[in-house]
Amino acid sequence: MNSPVLTQLIGGLASGDVEIVDLTTRLSANTPTLQLPAPFANLVDFGLEQVSAYDEPGPFWKHHNIRTGEHVGTHLDAPVHWVTGKGGRDVSQIPMSRLVGPAAVVDVSAEVGKDPDFLLEVEHIRAWEAEHGPLENGSWLLLRTGWDQYGHDQDLFLNTDENGSHTPGVSAECARWLAEDSPVSGFGVETVGIDAGNAMSLDPPFPVHHHLLGNDRYGVTSLRNLAQLPPTGAVVVVSPLPILDGTGSPARVIAFVDRRAEEPRA
Ligand code: MN
Repeated sequence: MNSPVLTQLIGGLASGDVEIVDLTTRLSANTPTLQLPAPFANLVDFGLEQVSAYDEPGPFWKHHNIRTGEHVGTHLDAPVHWVTGKGGRDVSQIPMSRLVGPAAVVDVSAEVGKDPDFLLEVEHIRAWEAEHGPLENGSWLLLRTGWDQYGHDQDLFLNTDENGSHTPGVSAECARWLAEDSPVSGFGVETVGIDAGNAMSLDPPFPVHHHLLGNDRYGVTSLRNLAQLPPTGAVVVVSPLPILDGTGSPARVIAFVDRRAEEPRA
């Protein structure tokens, strides 16, 4: 038995025509993490604890314990993370078929360069669709903001002042549209969370969490290297750990890009 599709994929990977782009932030104790203001409780940062290193506790091997919040680094938000998704899927219950799909990369990095509080509106997506074609069923809308350039520094990444955090995101109406009227499986961002830094002040608060997780759509954060993806044509793979009852999980996120392919015209 032979699969032409998989044979072509393997051939493309071997020749280098199909590139795998790693969209994942490295995990360490220094990985930037969300910091909720008092009185809210924060998760622990990622931590690595050595158990043995080719020594007495383990003479032939090295291994560690890891300790981490679910929502640390590049991670997936599952529906049960939000009150609107209560009773919905935990991270182990999301079908892999919804975590693999076409990537639609919407680049607003120029706008964000002028205004870190930039919010994506439906009209921006409509303009993108006019150029690149309609959003596909089961796709992941990946919001390119340029924010990954700050991923090495917690303060730059969170960009907080006396008025709160200033990082780009999505308007309440656009979040509702994505969740209820668009065919996307999920939404990915380069920032620390799927909502804008000032999203507490929107109506509803944290509208991307509210609408997407309440409609069995998923979110992924802290993506890197979106600049290496074409607007359409890449295939994204989001791979969280299947934690039973988990509200999210650090995830390895990759994209397959066929460098021979021209972007299809609308
Ligand atoms: Mn999260």
